[in-house]
Amino acid sequence: MTTKSAAAAARATVYGYPRQGRHRELKKAVEGYWKGGVTADALRATAAGLRRENWRQLAEAGIHEVPTGDFSYYDHVLDTTVMVGAIPARHREAVAAGPLDGYFAMARGTQDVAPLEMTKWFDTNYHYLVPELGPDTVFTADPAKQVAELTEALALGLTARPVLVGPVTYLLLAKPAPGVAAGFEPLTLLDRLLPVYAEVLADLRAAGAEWVQLDEPALVQDRTPAELNAAARAYRGLGALTDRPRLLVASYFGRLGEALPVLAKAPVEGLALDFTEAAAANLDALAAVGGLPGKRLVAGVVNGRNVWVNDLENSLATLGTLLGLADRVDVSASCSLLHVPLDAALERDIDPQILRWLAFARQKTRETVTLAKGLAQGTDTIAAELAANRADLASRAGSPLTRDPAVRARTTAVTDADARRTPSYTERAAAQRAHLGLPPLPTTTIGSFPQTDELRAARAALRGGRLDTAGYEERVKAEIQEVISFQEKAGLDVLVHGEPERNDMVQYFAEQLTGYLATRHGWVQSYGTRYVRPPVLAGDISRPAPMTVRWTRYAQSLTGRPVKGMLTGPVTMLAWSFVRDDQPLGDTARQVALALRDEVNDLEAAGTAVIQVDEPALRETLPLRAADRAAYLARATEAFRLTTAGVRPDTQIHTHMCYAEFGDVVQAIDDLDADVISLEAARSHMQVARELAAHGYPREAGPGVYDIHSPRVPSPEEAAGLLRTGLLAIPAERLWVNPDCGLKTRGWPETRASLENLVAAARTVREEL
Ligand code: GLN
Ligand code: ZN
Repeated sequence: MTTKSAAAAARATVYGYPRQGRHRELKKAVEGYWKGGVTADALRATAAGLRRENWRQLAEAGIHEVPTGDFSYYDHVLDTTVMVGAIPARHREAVAAGPLDGYFAMARGTQDVAPLEMTKWFDTNYHYLVPELGPDTVFTADPAKQVAELTEALALGLTARPVLVGPVTYLLLAKPAPGVAAGFEPLTLLDRLLPVYAEVLADLRAAGAEWVQLDEPALVQDRTPAELNAAARAYRGLGALTDRPRLLVASYFGRLGEALPVLAKAPVEGLALDFTEAAAANLDALAAVGGLPGKRLVAGVVNGRNVWVNDLENSLATLGTLLGLADRVDVSASCSLLHVPLDAALERDIDPQILRWLAFARQKTRETVTLAKGLAQGTDTIAAELAANRADLASRAGSPLTRDPAVRARTTAVTDADARRTPSYTERAAAQRAHLGLPPLPTTTIGSFPQTDELRAARAALRGGRLDTAGYEERVKAEIQEVISFQEKAGLDVLVHGEPERNDMVQYFAEQLTGYLATRHGWVQSYGTRYVRPPVLAGDISRPAPMTVRWTRYAQSLTGRPVKGMLTGPVTMLAWSFVRDDQPLGDTARQVALALRDEVNDLEAAGTAVIQVDEPALRETLPLRAADRAAYLARATEAFRLTTAGVRPDTQIHTHMCYAEFGDVVQAIDDLDADVISLEAARSHMQVARELAAHGYPREAGPGVYDIHSPRVPSPEEAAGLLRTGLLAIPAERLWVNPDCGLKTRGWPETRASLENLVAAARTVREEL
């Protein structure tokens, strides 16, 4: 191989593209089908049209080999489950009766059958449906979807590469099916699964595939020697097949580490690796194994997960180094573009100057094409693009939005003492007890009350200019009155204002902070037909004015009981936004924390004795590799403490997280130094309470006794039973009584009944103390 021929061969590709369409046509068609207004044929036609449009966009932009099979009605892991025939027993009847309805039954459940469990796709905000496998699982190949989509693309005259979830990742993402012993390891099914992949590969070859991509992102996580062996065995086996296309094994979301030599040695024709900053170690590791002689390397140099323009010169330098390490080097985004919005050009409300710093899927596609062209034909051929890119990067670096001297001065002046509350928790707890005078087993809620249709309509009317600000605020106040008066009547101890003014717990704050951008069309798939529009942390963050104080103050004016102030914490603000890539994450976290700290202090000054800072995202952004976790948790706890450490000892800081398993982060939760934490626990029978106790967690805690994820009303006896279970782990002086999470998705009738029962349960159990 020569560097020159490797360069001349360079082409651009991507691994996947946003599925929803410019106007979220897919969401509308799928939901229409569920409701009965859209026929199966119409849904299929919409889907085929969207695939065609995506391929057309990619090909027109200059993508040489378009991905196929990445499209999905709901989730690509569920598609893989169908492809390998691993339909759970409880869904077989529905799938046999009608594959499309059976597919949606697995995704969403039906009246009688539970859906597959859903969980996060690595460290993204995408959720996949977890395969359920057991020793009795029989795999059978169902390549129909893959073959059909390849055929569609080839019929358009395109070069296409089917993209499949690889067999090792598929098994590592699976869990034991219901009824199978928890110790069962799906990876033991590898030998049974490989023949099915062999059959799919043969069919794809017969249908005209020259290359097939097998995605193995699970190999960027910490893997045991046995798991690495399984990967080696899988690709030895697939590589040895004679009737197959060429294989490209793709990794993304980080460095391959010890899996890199395994894949480099495998008898496959190509590897795709992440070369973004977070995976920079891949470069040295690749050199250390002597490169990939005779193989194709796809270099993920354009970050597929952020929304920023690429530094083209930087990427060209990386690509230049890679040229000496493989036979052919292609350019790609680092992962599927599924994780970014479709097109920055659709944004009309963002300042055009700032818009030039942003790159969504369409812009990232263009970047990969430009880079491949520069590599293959020389940088002279992309001189104009390089000049424009340099200008965009310079304007970003020099903009007052990204460089606010006052914010920077304040951030650098932060000391350890600013992030430390004094005195110690124990002394504070005594001061708070005296200040608040609450009964044992105090009752409270997590913050939001039902978001009614009227409220949403009022917000839409305000946006549309049909309701003025004064009219809207009257609506919000009326809602707060109702929420406060209900809570007083129900007998809750620490009240909330109900968050009626908030559209979303992150967006509401992002809209009020300088340096944060909201998008109009920046939809990203979260799961199935649910799409979110994460705001963009674009510049230095400051808070021009208090954000929540007047609503909390108004609520407090209506009652003699303490009203809890309610904020979204800095870790969650970052986790559910697109973050900057032009400064360390810790700096961004500190800026957000300081803005929130001002809000916390203003709430206290306005007479708020209890302030809750929600961090539901703390655990979900935990890095994929254990070696990276300590630094993440240190940054996260520092940001939380900086937010909350400015208050008096007798002001009580609450936090809230909504997950039931968190053994791996108990220490970090303790390190937050909050006074009270509320957690999800109702479904797991207070498991968290036992985990806290096992850790020796010294603070007050409210494991939820009301599962808010269903309209079911818990009886007073049921809630009391959970409380008694909680008391076995946490003493009465430190146990709170609350639901699992906020009530915004619930209706008023079940909310009323459930909270009345919750208070009744607390009263009953207090009597027993
Ligand atoms: N305070 C928020 C609410 O009640 C918390 C939401 C959450 O934890 N996801 O809605
Ligand atoms: Zn929650």
